[in-house]
Amino acid sequence: MAGKIDNSMRGMIGRSAAGVLAVATGTYNNTQALHAPVLVLNASYEPINVCAARRAIVLVLKGVAMAEEENGHFLHAARVAMRVPSVIRLLEYRRIPHQTRALSRKNILLRDRNTCQYCMLALASGELTLDHVIPRSRGGSSTWENLVACCHPCNRRKGNQTPIEAGMKLAREPRAFNLHTSRHIMRLMGRSDDKWRKYLFY
Ligand SMILES: [Zn+2]
Repeated sequence: MAGKIDNSMRGMIGRSAAGVLAVATGTYNNTQALHAPVLVLNASYEPINVCAARRAIVLVLKGVAMAEEENGHFLHAARVAMRVPSVIRLLEYRRIPHQTRALSRKNILLRDRNTCQYCMLALASGELTLDHVIPRSRGGSSTWENLVACCHPCNRRKGNQTPIEAGMKLAREPRAFNLHTSRHIMRLMGRSDDKWRKYLFY
Protein backbone atom coordinates (compact mmCIF):
# COMPACT_ATOMS: atom_id res chain seq x y z
CA MET A 1 0.00 0.00 0.00
CA ALA A 2 1.58 3.23 -1.12
CA GLY A 3 1.25 6.15 1.23
CA LYS A 4 1.06 4.02 4.33
CA ILE A 5 3.92 5.24 6.44
CA ASP A 6 4.71 3.75 9.79
CA ASN A 7 7.18 4.85 12.39
CA SER A 8 9.88 2.46 11.28
CA MET A 9 9.79 3.94 7.80
CA ARG A 10 9.95 7.49 9.11
CA GLY A 11 13.01 6.39 10.98
CA MET A 12 14.59 5.34 7.72
CA ILE A 13 14.28 8.72 6.05
CA GLY A 14 15.82 12.07 6.72
CA ARG A 15 19.13 11.16 8.18
CA SER A 16 21.19 12.60 5.40
CA ALA A 17 23.76 14.21 7.67
CA ALA A 18 24.76 10.88 9.13
CA GLY A 19 24.49 9.35 5.67
CA VAL A 20 26.93 11.82 4.16
CA LEU A 21 29.29 10.92 6.95
CA ALA A 22 29.04 7.25 6.02
CA VAL A 23 29.86 8.08 2.41
CA ALA A 24 32.77 10.21 3.49
CA THR A 25 34.29 7.31 5.38
CA GLY A 26 33.92 5.23 2.24
CA THR A 27 33.70 1.95 4.12
CA TYR A 28 30.35 0.90 2.78
CA ASN A 29 28.88 1.76 -0.60
CA ASN A 30 25.38 1.56 -2.02
CA THR A 31 26.07 -1.59 -4.01
CA GLN A 32 27.18 -3.48 -0.92
CA ALA A 33 24.27 -2.01 1.01
CA LEU A 34 21.75 -3.22 -1.57
CA HIS A 35 23.05 -6.78 -1.44
CA ALA A 36 23.36 -7.15 2.31
CA PRO A 37 21.29 -10.14 3.49
CA VAL A 38 18.14 -9.32 5.43
CA LEU A 39 16.22 -11.79 7.57
CA VAL A 40 12.48 -11.82 6.79
CA LEU A 41 10.08 -12.63 9.62
CA ASN A 42 6.43 -13.49 9.34
CA ALA A 43 3.97 -11.28 11.23
CA SER A 44 4.28 -13.90 13.99
CA TYR A 45 8.06 -13.24 14.22
CA GLU A 46 8.75 -16.65 12.74
CA PRO A 47 11.79 -16.46 10.42
CA ILE A 48 10.69 -17.40 6.90
CA ASN A 49 13.27 -16.19 4.42
CA VAL A 50 16.43 -14.27 3.65
CA CYS A 51 16.41 -11.59 0.97
CA ALA A 52 18.70 -8.84 -0.30
CA ALA A 53 18.42 -5.41 1.32
CA ARG A 54 17.13 -3.97 -1.96
CA ARG A 55 14.05 -6.23 -1.78
CA ALA A 56 13.61 -5.63 1.95
CA ILE A 57 13.58 -1.86 1.44
CA VAL A 58 10.97 -2.18 -1.32
CA LEU A 59 8.79 -4.27 1.02
CA VAL A 60 9.11 -1.64 3.75
CA LEU A 61 8.41 1.27 1.38
CA LYS A 62 5.35 -0.55 0.01
CA GLY A 63 4.04 -0.94 3.54
CA VAL A 64 4.18 -4.74 3.35
CA ALA A 65 6.84 -5.09 6.02
CA MET A 66 8.47 -3.03 8.73
CA ALA A 67 12.10 -2.86 9.78
CA GLU A 68 12.67 -4.68 13.08
CA GLU A 69 16.44 -4.25 13.15
CA GLU A 70 18.83 -2.08 11.20
CA ASN A 71 22.35 -3.00 10.22
CA GLY A 72 23.91 0.35 11.08
CA HIS A 73 24.53 1.35 7.47
CA PHE A 74 22.79 3.84 5.26
CA LEU A 75 21.60 3.70 1.70
CA HIS A 76 21.90 6.94 -0.21
CA ALA A 77 19.28 8.10 -2.65
CA ALA A 78 19.12 11.55 -4.23
CA ARG A 79 18.33 13.53 -1.11
CA VAL A 80 17.75 11.05 1.62
CA ALA A 81 19.76 8.47 3.43
CA MET A 82 17.88 5.37 4.49
CA ARG A 83 18.84 3.04 7.24
CA VAL A 84 19.46 -0.42 5.80
CA PRO A 85 17.34 -3.01 7.60
CA SER A 86 18.92 -6.17 8.98
CA VAL A 87 15.63 -7.83 9.95
CA ILE A 88 12.17 -7.01 8.58
CA ARG A 89 8.77 -8.35 9.57
CA LEU A 90 5.74 -8.76 7.35
CA LEU A 91 2.79 -6.74 8.64
CA GLU A 92 0.26 -9.35 7.60
CA TYR A 93 0.64 -13.01 8.46
CA ARG A 94 1.48 -15.08 5.41
CA ARG A 95 0.75 -18.77 5.39
CA ILE A 96 3.89 -20.56 4.27
CA PRO A 97 2.97 -23.71 2.38
CA HIS A 98 5.02 -26.74 3.28
CA GLN A 99 5.91 -27.25 -0.30
CA THR A 100 9.43 -27.34 -1.57
CA ARG A 101 11.19 -24.54 -3.37
CA ALA A 102 11.46 -24.43 -7.13
CA LEU A 103 14.04 -26.82 -8.53
CA SER A 104 16.74 -24.60 -9.99
CA ARG A 105 20.51 -24.44 -10.24
CA LYS A 106 20.52 -21.52 -7.81
CA ASN A 107 18.47 -23.39 -5.20
CA ILE A 108 20.54 -26.57 -5.50
CA LEU A 109 23.73 -24.56 -4.94
CA LEU A 110 22.06 -22.83 -1.99
CA ARG A 111 20.94 -26.16 -0.50
CA ASP A 112 24.46 -27.56 -0.91
CA ARG A 113 25.97 -24.28 0.33
CA ASN A 114 28.11 -23.90 -2.77
CA THR A 115 30.07 -26.95 -1.70
CA CYS A 116 31.05 -29.83 -3.99
CA GLN A 117 29.19 -32.79 -2.51
CA TYR A 118 32.04 -35.18 -3.35
CA CYS A 119 35.21 -33.37 -2.20
CA MET A 120 33.51 -30.78 0.09
CA LEU A 121 35.34 -27.86 -1.52
CA ALA A 122 33.36 -24.60 -1.14
CA LEU A 123 33.54 -22.62 -4.41
CA ALA A 124 32.02 -19.62 -6.19
CA SER A 125 28.81 -20.45 -8.08
CA GLY A 126 30.59 -20.07 -11.41
CA GLU A 127 33.08 -22.78 -10.46
CA LEU A 128 30.41 -25.34 -9.66
CA THR A 129 28.31 -27.48 -11.91
CA LEU A 130 25.32 -29.71 -11.21
CA ASP A 131 26.01 -33.44 -11.12
CA HIS A 132 23.34 -36.07 -11.80
CA VAL A 133 24.16 -38.66 -9.09
CA ILE A 134 22.72 -41.40 -11.32
CA PRO A 135 23.82 -40.12 -14.75
CA ARG A 136 21.10 -39.06 -17.16
CA SER A 137 22.41 -41.59 -19.69
CA ARG A 138 21.65 -44.28 -17.10
CA GLY A 139 18.11 -43.13 -16.52
CA GLY A 140 18.84 -40.65 -13.71
CA SER A 141 16.27 -37.88 -13.45
CA SER A 142 16.63 -34.14 -12.85
CA THR A 143 15.22 -34.03 -9.34
CA TRP A 144 16.22 -32.68 -5.94
CA GLU A 145 17.24 -36.19 -4.93
CA ASN A 146 19.45 -36.78 -7.98
CA LEU A 147 21.15 -33.39 -8.44
CA VAL A 148 24.06 -32.12 -6.35
CA ALA A 149 26.57 -29.28 -6.49
CA CYS A 150 29.84 -30.58 -7.92
CA CYS A 151 33.21 -29.07 -8.81
CA HIS A 152 34.48 -29.55 -12.37
CA PRO A 153 37.35 -31.94 -11.46
CA CYS A 154 34.98 -34.24 -9.51
CA ASN A 155 32.43 -34.03 -12.32
CA ARG A 156 35.06 -35.10 -14.88
CA ARG A 157 36.34 -37.86 -12.65
CA LYS A 158 32.86 -39.26 -12.09
CA GLY A 159 31.92 -39.05 -15.77
CA ASN A 160 29.16 -41.44 -16.73
CA GLN A 161 29.42 -43.56 -13.61
CA THR A 162 27.39 -43.91 -10.47
CA PRO A 163 29.17 -42.79 -7.27
CA ILE A 164 29.83 -46.42 -6.32
CA GLU A 165 31.34 -47.22 -9.74
CA ALA A 166 33.52 -44.11 -9.53
CA GLY A 167 34.53 -44.88 -5.94
CA MET A 168 33.20 -41.50 -4.86
CA LYS A 169 31.05 -40.84 -1.84
CA LEU A 170 28.37 -38.18 -1.44
CA ALA A 171 28.85 -35.99 1.63
CA ARG A 172 25.15 -36.40 2.38
CA GLU A 173 21.97 -37.70 0.87
CA PRO A 174 20.47 -35.00 -1.41
CA ARG A 175 16.99 -33.96 -0.27
CA ALA A 176 14.34 -31.55 -1.41
CA PHE A 177 14.85 -27.99 -0.23
CA ASN A 178 11.96 -27.35 2.13
CA LEU A 179 11.28 -24.93 4.95
CA HIS A 180 13.26 -27.11 7.32
CA THR A 181 16.36 -26.79 5.10
CA SER A 182 15.77 -23.04 4.79
CA ARG A 183 15.66 -22.66 8.59
CA HIS A 184 18.90 -24.58 8.90
CA ILE A 185 20.58 -22.26 6.39
CA MET A 186 19.12 -19.16 8.07
CA ARG A 187 20.60 -20.34 11.39
CA LEU A 188 24.00 -20.87 9.80
CA MET A 189 23.89 -17.40 8.26
CA GLY A 190 22.69 -15.79 11.48
CA ARG A 191 25.11 -17.47 13.84
CA SER A 192 27.46 -14.49 13.89
CA ASP A 193 24.81 -11.77 13.67
CA ASP A 194 23.41 -10.68 17.04
CA LYS A 195 20.48 -8.95 15.40
CA TRP A 196 19.44 -12.16 13.66
CA ARG A 197 20.25 -14.51 16.50
CA LYS A 198 17.39 -13.56 18.76
CA TYR A 199 14.88 -14.47 16.03
CA LEU A 200 16.63 -17.67 14.93
CA PHE A 201 17.67 -19.40 18.13
CA TYR A 202 14.80 -20.26 20.36
ZN1 LIG B 1 34.78 -31.83 -5.95
